[in-house]
Amino acid sequence: MARYTAAVCRLCRRSGDKLMLKGNKCITKCVLDRRPKPPGPQLGRRRRLSDRGIQLREKQKVRYSYGILERQFRRFFAQAGRQPGITGENLLVLLERRLDNVIYRLGFSDSRSQARQIVQHGHILLNGHKTDIPSCLVKEGDTISWHESSTKKEYYKQLVQVVSGKVIPGWLSLDKQNLVGKVLSLPTPDDIETKFDVAAVVEHYSR
Ligand code: SF4
Repeated sequence: MARYTAAVCRLCRRSGDKLMLKGNKCITKCVLDRRPKPPGPQLGRRRRLSDRGIQLREKQKVRYSYGILERQFRRFFAQAGRQPGITGENLLVLLERRLDNVIYRLGFSDSRSQARQIVQHGHILLNGHKTDIPSCLVKEGDTISWHESSTKKEYYKQLVQVVSGKVIPGWLSLDKQNLVGKVLSLPTPDDIETKFDVAAVVEHYSR
């Protein structure tokens, strides 16, 4: 499965925004604070971004944040466009429903990329069945738990301590003793804390 493998801080520098791609490390030591300029050769004075450039940057910020490559992101966008309602909001809801994002929201990982790895390594059960596809979408009533062999790992044991202090979104619930999550309802746009301009993303693809 294709994925971005270069230094993720470059993505934040390119976007000019802290996308928090490295979890807690982003809070303690952020590269963007030390090197705020975009990566690559410095061309002196920065040009003002065109409308098209702003739309592209917003689209890339969403894509980088959820750790998705362009082709899959386009598929999500097309799916959002086929649904009733506002395409930008539908897109965010679809992205939030990805299993790797749910793992991240439940506090099982520090970042979405770590969540993706946890899923791919077969540690997670969706409704009791081993699932190693990070992009699969959860539904209302789904349960997310750990594979029995994974509960013996040191990571899981530490997680039980760490997760007790985490705040999880209202559309999910978590049994903090057994680390079993449940999807109480599908997320609504109001449930999703976002700093993205999704209207710009829609405009970007509408040209
Ligand atoms: Fe982005 Fe985190 Fe790197 Fe800062 S430390 S540039 S927020 S990934």
